[in-house]
Amino acid sequence: MEMNRRNICIIAHVDHGKTTLVDYLLRQAGTFQEHQSLQDRVMDSMDLERERGITILAKNTSIHVGDTKINVVDTPGHADFGGEVERILGMVDGAILLIDAAEGPLPQTRFVLQKALAQGHKVILVVNKVDRPECRGTGRIQEVVNMAFDLFIELGASEEQANFPIVYACSRQGWCTMDEADIDPILEGKKKADLKPLFDLILEQIPPPRVKLDGDFQMLVSNLSYSDYVGRLAIGRVSSGVVRKGTRIFRQGIKPDGQPLKEGFSVSELFTYEGLKQVPIDQLEAGEIGIVAGLETFEI
Ligand code: GDP
Repeated sequence: MEMNRRNICIIAHVDHGKTTLVDYLLRQAGTFQEHQSLQDRVMDSMDLERERGITILAKNTSIHVGDTKINVVDTPGHADFGGEVERILGMVDGAILLIDAAEGPLPQTRFVLQKALAQGHKVILVVNKVDRPECRGTGRIQEVVNMAFDLFIELGASEEQANFPIVYACSRQGWCTMDEADIDPILEGKKKADLKPLFDLILEQIPPPRVKLDGDFQMLVSNLSYSDYVGRLAIGRVSSGVVRKGTRIFRQGIKPDGQPLKEGFSVSELFTYEGLKQVPIDQLEAGEIGIVAGLETFEI
């Protein structure tokens, strides 16, 4: 069953522009009003969470494009979280590798990229900050693309993965282009551009979640959080079936002695991501990334 949904993550070294890119993706998808800055919105959503007593650690975001929902799962940029990286990458079907055009790929993103490639994810390369003076007329951008290619090969990318689509972006101005020759005309104001090429690439190149809507409900818990009102929260991607509020389901795990564990509980609350917020919903279906409450002993 194909869903109108894409689950992706953005792999980026800190400061290469992930927040700025997500901000403009949200704005241009019309999820938010133009005049608010991302900072305001992040604050807004944190206040809202505080009001509801929900604090969710992973800053997942969702963006609606037409009738498709793109979930952007937050990824730690560095290698300190071995198991966490694999779990997070298990929630997505593809990734954006965002690289500062002046700095090039930095070693800290290698680990996450390697894990993404090993999971078979298709990766879109976004060369960001193409407006930086170091990149103009210096051949630097092509150099960075070549470095990225070498890195993919070194990390064991398949032929298809190494043949990655590329966009050249100036996130801070909210645009990107697939044609390197367009960078100067856009920067000089002779051509107009926005982030549509990246939206299109995500929709075309990243596959929708492959899931079974009609199977039994199954969700792989990838992260945990806590709410003062509803208690412990399990965050993850639903791999099959549908769950509704009030339904009785089981947590399956492993006991300390290695025996299988099966613990029944009723779903008290369900949430999904809308923009930067977590919103309550009545049902959560296969392919979606969401949050389940109702058990105090959730574990990853
Ligand atoms: P993050 O740490 O990856 O989330 O990076 P931010 O989005 O916070 O951006 C880091 C810095 O780079 C900020 O000062 C941004 O304004 C700046 N920045 C982001 N995108 C661009 C760009 O396209 N061009 C330039 N010149 N600066 C950018």
